[in-house]
Amino acid sequence: MQMRFMMRSFRRGWVGRCPACGDGKLFGRYLKVDPVCGCCNHDNGRYPADDAPPYFTILLVGHLVIAPMLAFPFIWEWPAGLVLAITLPTLLAATLVLLPRVKGAVIAFQYAVACDPDRGQELP
Ligand SMILES: [Zn+2]
Repeated sequence: MQMRFMMRSFRRGWVGRCPACGDGKLFGRYLKVDPVCGCCNHDNGRYPADDAPPYFTILLVGHLVIAPMLAFPFIWEWPAGLVLAITLPTLLAATLVLLPRVKGAVIAFQYAVACDPDRGQELP
């Protein structure tokens, strides 16, 4: 598999664009995948993301937000209610921002594997 092809598809999916053409929108709503790209008619509905996006989102938020947050002294020194009032909305926002991006990347990864140009399969 060509790494350039994979990274291009991954970038397109991460920003919510069709992994095949990069112009059409991947999502019709927040997490609802448009089954067919409006620009290139690629069948984006055939890539089931299932539980992978929430799993990777939890992994990212846990490692990139929660773990570094524990290094700040206010987490341990401030009253628990105040810490929760500050951190929970932050975690919620990070999760809601990352989830569609991760889902787009997962779908784009599936597209890149299914359309591997090295194997002579479907090209974008
Ligand atoms: Zn497209």
